[in-house]
Amino acid sequence: MARTRKDAQPATHNQVAMVFDLNKCLGCQTCTVACKRLWTRDEGMEYMWWATVNTQPGRGTPRDWESSGGGFRDGVAQPGRLPTRKDFGEAWEFNHDEVFYGGKGQDVHLAPKGKPDWGPNWDEDQGDGEYPNSYYFYLPRICNHCTHPACLAACPRGAIEKRENDGIVTVNEDRCRGYRFCMEACPYKKIYFNQARKVAQKCIFCFPRVDQEVAPACARMCPGRVRFAGYVNDPEGPIYKLVKKWKVAIPLHPEYGTEPNVYYVPPLAPPRLDENGDVDESQPRIPTEYLVSLFGPAVHQSLATLTAEMAKARNGEESELMDLLISRKWIDMFRPFQRDPSTIKWGGRV
Ligand code: SF4
Ligand code: SF4
Repeated sequence: MARTRKDAQPATHNQVAMVFDLNKCLGCQTCTVACKRLWTRDEGMEYMWWATVNTQPGRGTPRDWESSGGGFRDGVAQPGRLPTRKDFGEAWEFNHDEVFYGGKGQDVHLAPKGKPDWGPNWDEDQGDGEYPNSYYFYLPRICNHCTHPACLAACPRGAIEKRENDGIVTVNEDRCRGYRFCMEACPYKKIYFNQARKVAQKCIFCFPRVDQEVAPACARMCPGRVRFAGYVNDPEGPIYKLVKKWKVAIPLHPEYGTEPNVYYVPPLAPPRLDENGDVDESQPRIPTEYLVSLFGPAVHQSLATLTAEMAKARNGEESELMDLLISRKWIDMFRPFQRDPSTIKWGGRV
């Protein structure tokens, strides 16, 4: 079993990546459902949501994943906790029969059976802070297709592979024996266990689509134009510009040591109000220390750049960064995965 970060790094030429602009996410879950419809409808996959969107601050899914260990510290693999099925959250049962066929008319209403105490989006729209300065934002997550995948390093079967041509991380189900070391090792807890087939399963970055130069379904379906998809090392692509050139898109929990290839434009928020209801610019509505806890110290520079470029745009000046983030032409967000899927003769369900 590979124990160091170096062991886990295969040679990769291109590297697929996504950028999520958290200032535009509506929490609509279209991405979540697009992924569910495409990839996780088979037996044993009922509880899987390879694409999730949770409200922050919150415990996320699986529950408390941020304190579940795994990843690397100083290049050395760390112990991680195996999330339980309950941590991921089961689908709730509802009283459909009683409401629709029980003959009770308006006396009953649709409600969960029993009292659910957890679910995959339990903290939805709760957030933190006190009125009128309360706040929350949505955090979409997929597998990060890490440059140093802790899941790959932990697998004694060599069942987790990182594709050489584009860095997509996949599970070879023929090799997997269901040991679940990958689930313990992934610090983002983005691997699931299929009880019916006894194999690990995870986001595949829609590789059958990417192989045809079509953007992943979660990105293409997103009505908020939140999700950029492409190669991080394509200097003409929006991801390179947001990550490398403008440095406003930064990874989630970089201290986990896996070098994720999903990047986030951190959220800004309306200004705080003082006790008289007047604007109070002395401190931000979303505490910066909370954003640092998610994205590391790079969030300071990112927020400063975003604020400065927003001011330029507001004054009528040119801003390449604001034009990129506004994304007037949605297809520009996916270079080079810009092919129209309706022009392709697909096999299977893609
Ligand atoms: S996010 Fe987790 S499952 Fe995905 S590549 Fe990184 S370590 Fe592996
Ligand atoms: S990323 Fe897009 S599709 Fe997903 S919840 Fe946010 S706005 Fe909706």
